[in-house]
Amino acid sequence: LLRVRDLTVSFPQPGAGRVTVVQGVSLDVAKGEILGLVGESGSGKSVTAMSLLGLVPDPGRVAASAVELDGRELTGLSFEELRKVRGGAIGVVFQEPIASLNPAYTVGDQVAEVLREHEGLSRAQARARVVELFEQVHIPEPDKRIRDYPHQFSGGMAQRVMIAMALACRPRLLVADEPTTALDVTVQGQVLDLLLELRAETGMSILLITHDLGVVADVADRVAVMYAGQIVEGGPTEDVFRRPAHPYTEGLLASLP
Ligand code: ATP
Ligand code: MG
Repeated sequence: LLRVRDLTVSFPQPGAGRVTVVQGVSLDVAKGEILGLVGESGSGKSVTAMSLLGLVPDPGRVAASAVELDGRELTGLSFEELRKVRGGAIGVVFQEPIASLNPAYTVGDQVAEVLREHEGLSRAQARARVVELFEQVHIPEPDKRIRDYPHQFSGGMAQRVMIAMALACRPRLLVADEPTTALDVTVQGQVLDLLLELRAETGMSILLITHDLGVVADVADRVAVMYAGQIVEGGPTEDVFRRPAHPYTEGLLASLP
C-alpha cells in the first residue's frame, strides 16, 4: 500500500549549512498491516511521518527516490496536488488529542467540517455521519457528545474523537504518531484495542509511531527501528524481539520490563 525509498530530510542549521535528520529511510506498509516505527526521541520518526503527509515545514528539504501510495507516485507533486491525491487516503492521529482540536467549536462541528470539506456532505448528512463515526470509536452517548467542546473530554475520549476524525474519509492508511503517549496506562490499552478493532473492521493499514516497545509488541505485525535518522533494523515483530540484529535494538529490548 505504501512504499517509501531513500527518504532524506534536512533542515537548515542555525550557523551554517544543513543538518540531515532523516537519511535514506525505506519503508513498506502492506494492506491491512500495522507497521510499528520505533526509536528514541529525536531519531526522526515524526519528520518521516510528516514527509509522507507533505507537512514538513518550509525550510525543510525532502527528497526520496520513491514514495508510492497504492502504486501512485507522490514524489515531485506540489503540496496542493499531494493534498488532493492523499485526500481521504491517509488519516492522521497525533499525540495530544485536545491540543489538536479547536477549543472554540464543538467536537461534532469539527468532525462534520472535515466531512463537508472532503466528502461534500450537507449539514444534516455530516451530522448523521459524525454520530456513526462516534459509535464506531465507542464514544458513549454519541448524539449528546457531539455537542460538547474539546475541554469536556478526557484524554482517552478526545483521542477517540481524533480517531473518528481520521476515519471520516475512510482512509486506507492511518498514520498515528504517538497516539497513546499522552494517555494513562489503562486508557493506552483501550486506544490500542480500538486501533486493532478498526483495522480488522476496515482493512486499513496503520503506521504506528511510538518510542514505546511495549506498544509495538502488543499491536504491530512488523517493526522498523529508527536510530539517528536511519532505519537500523526491520522485520516481523516477533523476529526482531527474539533476535535483534542491531546493538541499538538489543539495548532497547533490554530496557523492557
Ligand atoms: P520524539 O520521540 O521526541 O517525537 P522523533 O523521533 O519524532 O522524536 P523528530 O521530531 O522526527 O524526532 O525529530 C528529528 C530531528 O529533526 C530532531 O533532531 C529535531 O530537532 C529535528 N527537527 C524536527 N523538525 C524540525 C524543524 N522544523 N526544523 C529543524 N529541525 C527539526
Ligand atoms: Mg515525534
